[in-house]
Amino acid sequence: MEIAFRKIAKEALDFELTKENIKLFGKVFRKSSNLVLLKADLVGQLGHICDRCGKDLNVEINEPLEILLSDGIYKDEMDKIDVVEFYGGAIDFDEILQSEIESIKSGYHYCDICKNL
Ligand SMILES: [Zn+2]
Repeated sequence: MEIAFRKIAKEALDFELTKENIKLFGKVFRKSSNLVLLKADLVGQLGHICDRCGKDLNVEINEPLEILLSDGIYKDEMDKIDVVEFYGGAIDFDEILQSEIESIKSGYHYCDICKNL
């Protein structure tokens, strides 16, 4: 799913998409001429294996996200918020969701038994 930067105004635009049982939903709205702010929630379950014993487990995901989306290169580095740059004039929501899923997968997750060791 893509939305062109020029279609996003100060008024919030709702979006919602799902991938691998994970839902990303929220709003995007214009912050400046080349920046759009995304405020969303990432909710769902991710199939994973325990990083200690290898048992299958579902990682429960429920986290708020706040990301700046830049139309082209982002120059102002004052904000400490995450910034994602897009070069095609449009926001690729699948890419955002995919990168959030990858970052969760790259973390450590333990099953209930190993969690309490
Ligand atoms: Zn385990």
